[in-house]
Amino acid sequence: MAARRVDPDVLIVGGGPAGAAAAIQCGLRGLDVVLLEREGAPRDKPGEALHPGVEPLLGQLGVAGRLDAVTGARHAGVWIEWAGGRRFEPFGADAGGPWRGFQVRRRDFDALLLDRAREVGAETRPGCRAIALQRGADGRWRVETTDGPVACAIVIDATGSANWLARKLRLRASEHSPPLVARYGYAEGSCPARDEAPSLIGEGAGWTWTARVAPGLYQWVRLDLEERAQAADPVPAELRGLAPRGRERGADVTWRLSAAAAGPGWFIAGDAAAMLDPASSHGVLKAIMSGMMAGHLSARVLREGAAPAEAVSAYREWLEGWFAADVARLSEFYRELGVSGFAAEAALA
Ligand SMILES: Cc1cc2nc3c(=O)[nH]c(=O)nc-3n(C[C@H](O)[C@H](O)[C@H](O)COP(=O)(O)OP(=O)(O)OC[C@H]3O[C@@H](n4cnc5c(N)ncnc54)[C@H](O)[C@@H]3O)c2cc1C
Repeated sequence: MAARRVDPDVLIVGGGPAGAAAAIQCGLRGLDVVLLEREGAPRDKPGEALHPGVEPLLGQLGVAGRLDAVTGARHAGVWIEWAGGRRFEPFGADAGGPWRGFQVRRRDFDALLLDRAREVGAETRPGCRAIALQRGADGRWRVETTDGPVACAIVIDATGSANWLARKLRLRASEHSPPLVARYGYAEGSCPARDEAPSLIGEGAGWTWTARVAPGLYQWVRLDLEERAQAADPVPAELRGLAPRGRERGADVTWRLSAAAAGPGWFIAGDAAAMLDPASSHGVLKAIMSGMMAGHLSARVLREGAAPAEAVSAYREWLEGWFAADVARLSEFYRELGVSGFAAEAALA
């Protein structure tokens, strides 16, 4: 077994796309990195549909050429039925042909990114949970983990909805939508109508997403806009004859933004920093982008002598800027359904 580094430059908490992207970026920039993941191994979770725009980012991380091994299906766009009209929305095209999105198996996708993090020198500790942290007089963090203490200069929190660091620092998130809960599940069998492309159907009461995630396996997501008027059977009609795989699950997907996404010696990336509901369709893309940005700024501070305060404000400005733009765009999308409660302006508290 390789000897463990006691004192890395950067400790990353969480091994989803945000944490793994941060670890790769730090590793590529020559930083010593330890990444903790509380699970013993990556697990399947939602977040399988990736826009083709993710490919250049994965290229920068050095894994674009390995995507075939983790992709269950590809499609050139999405069927959208929103407030009446039905249209096929292609992702776009260039001289090479139509751009195609990826349906990845999250277990394999997350493992691919963690493998790459190890390749560029990061030490990953599966089955290890961050518990508490405190700052020493020398300004370094001491983080208690289930595997013993780790001292580091910068902590990057990428714990998704567990919001580990925000809880420890008592940062409250601001909410930017009505309370939203997404229910989702999987079905096995054949649904030829869904093999060509996913579908998003929205009406005043909410929306339903269905997609083929791999041959013979389909995912559905249902989001009811009225919490008290949830569809009794959220499984869409086209998948009802198929065999359910696993049980139905739910997730709080209320739009939220951490009170601060960075401070002296810490960054928060991915869902832990900012979250939108899955209709935004790019949670994984934003997780990867923010992880890369947190890794890049950590290197600017620790390797290139950038002022920590400048890195903090650059990160916060960047993250809050795209969140505000996304809130405006997604609110507009919901207003097309004639539903109230979504901000007319993207003013952030
Ligand atoms: C129903 C649904 C459908 C979705 N569909 C899509 C989609 O089609 N496309 C898309 O792009 N996005 C989608 N998303 C969003 C996407 O799943 C998330 O945006 C993405 O997973 C966020 O990545 P992350 O790395 O920030 O967090 P996560 O992937 O949640 O990773 C966080 C990791 O931190 C670990 N962790 C937590 N606490 C600790 C601790 N104390 N110590 C150590 N480790 C810890 C967890 O075990 C976990 O592995 C969907 C979300 C939902 C709910």
